[in-house]
Amino acid sequence: MSAHPEPSRHVVVIGAGLGGISAAVSLAQEGYRVTLIEKNAWLGGKLSELKAEGYTFDLGPSILTLPHILERLFEGSGRKMADYIPIRTVRPHWRCFFEDGVVVDLTPEQEEMDEQLRAIGENPDNFRRFLEYSAELYDLTAEGYFEQGLDTAAEFREFYGLWKFSRFDLFRSMHQGVCRFLETRYMRDVMDFFIKYVGSSALRAPAFMNSMPTIQFRHDLWYVDGGLYNIARGLRRLLDEIGVEVRLETDIAAILKDAGRVNGVVTRHGEEIPADVVVSNMEVIPTYRHLLDESPEFLRRLRRFEPSCSGLVLDLGLDRQYPQLAHHNFFMSKNQAVHFKTVFQKRKLPSDPTIYLVAASRTDPTVAPEGCDCLKILPHIPYIDEERSLTREDYLAYKETILDKLERMGLEDLRSHVRYEHVLTPLDIHERYRSNKGSIYGVVVDRFKNLGFKAPKQSERYENLFFVGGSVNPGGGMPMVTLCGQNVARKVVEWERGSG
Ligand SMILES: Cc1cc2nc3c(=O)[nH]c(=O)nc-3n(C[C@H](O)[C@H](O)[C@H](O)COP(=O)(O)OP(=O)(O)OC[C@H]3O[C@@H](n4cnc5c(N)ncnc54)[C@H](O)[C@@H]3O)c2cc1C
Repeated sequence: MSAHPEPSRHVVVIGAGLGGISAAVSLAQEGYRVTLIEKNAWLGGKLSELKAEGYTFDLGPSILTLPHILERLFEGSGRKMADYIPIRTVRPHWRCFFEDGVVVDLTPEQEEMDEQLRAIGENPDNFRRFLEYSAELYDLTAEGYFEQGLDTAAEFREFYGLWKFSRFDLFRSMHQGVCRFLETRYMRDVMDFFIKYVGSSALRAPAFMNSMPTIQFRHDLWYVDGGLYNIARGLRRLLDEIGVEVRLETDIAAILKDAGRVNGVVTRHGEEIPADVVVSNMEVIPTYRHLLDESPEFLRRLRRFEPSCSGLVLDLGLDRQYPQLAHHNFFMSKNQAVHFKTVFQKRKLPSDPTIYLVAASRTDPTVAPEGCDCLKILPHIPYIDEERSLTREDYLAYKETILDKLERMGLEDLRSHVRYEHVLTPLDIHERYRSNKGSIYGVVVDRFKNLGFKAPKQSERYENLFFVGGSVNPGGGMPMVTLCGQNVARKVVEWERGSG
């Protein structure tokens, strides 16, 4: 840990998503006085839960990966995460249903996985080679992009040098990388869908996104007992113990600025809160547009940081269980290329999407009444497009397409077993989290638009303004925004040293 700054140095963090919390904890551990300000009544942002009629739903994330990144927040204060957040692995990782009746389970146990592969005609050696390729990409990405918090092409060049840089498989898409190794449509579709973790298209994402399967196959896939929201509860305890001031239901309306610096924030009710450093967990584009009132010309320069997809989050409390479901399920599209193109290029609602369905009650009986399932159903759909704007009614009509597909693919009479229903449309997602156009993972990963880079963590306009979360490097997903918060704290310390 670095030499501590003056105890009076004050950081305001706008937004208590996981990224904001991670930045707040890490900065407090560096000796700053930190105020964490959140407009909602709960801590955690997209990490949020709904309890109703005996069912507990995670409205946001449901898969925890790379828990060692979260663990670092506790280690930084001499604590153990296990004392705050109870986690366990899930088997199988994913269960994937195809329209022709084929079902494939992903599991890190090699013999079981080999059996699955043989059953669908995929040579296990192909998969082993694919995982080796994935591991190489992961190690390469983790060493610099993740752990050093690299932000710009210049930083990449300096860290990786030309030779290492060429190992990122730069001239292929993620899908082309998958097709180099895997032969069956089943495994190609499944491995392509790892791009779900960042809400992008495997056809447009760069091949180094094939690093993602290593996250699961090497570091496992985790569940938090009682639901993922217990991550936020555990972090709240940590925040309180290390003295971070948390202010909920406080909406920030503006950031105070003056000649290349920011001086604090103003709440919706007009209260001014001075700060030496501001960290925004609101996404980059909305921060510049709404809190800093930047010119359209400046905002145009940020266009390459296009939003990731949004989603329809459908939570159903059932009066029965569907025993064929695992904890994490995927109902695959008949033609996933069409699914990707419809969502990410045409920006229309796909008629046959790949649907992610979580039945947490399979692992954790506390989240549903006995003998019942609680389902979270999440098809990825386009972000809000002003030129083709859809109403809440349009999204609710689309829900029927999703239920039709699930009933057709084995969840018989699903509609008649629904006892409780809750829906979040992209419009709700936008309103709840203020994400850019209802995006759920921050910035899209697209080799033609941004090569997978998100915005830098330090503002190019205001030297003491920093960003954290899915719209800055390394991007969306719980582990990445947590890592981002840790890297932001390091950046703030380095900047203060340099500018001091
Ligand atoms: C349905 C869904 C499923 C997902 N599944 C997974 C998964 O299984 N695994 C995984 O790892 N990730 C998953 N994700 C992604 C993951 O949830 C996000 O990448 C991550 O939680 C985002 O954290 P964040 O800190 O960047 O932003 P957020 O969580 O969006 O936090 C930003 C916070 O800032 C607050 N805020 C914004 N503006 C202001 C303002 N002006 N004043 C005060 N407060 C403000 C917002 O209210 C919000 O609380 C999922 C997301 C969704 C929505």
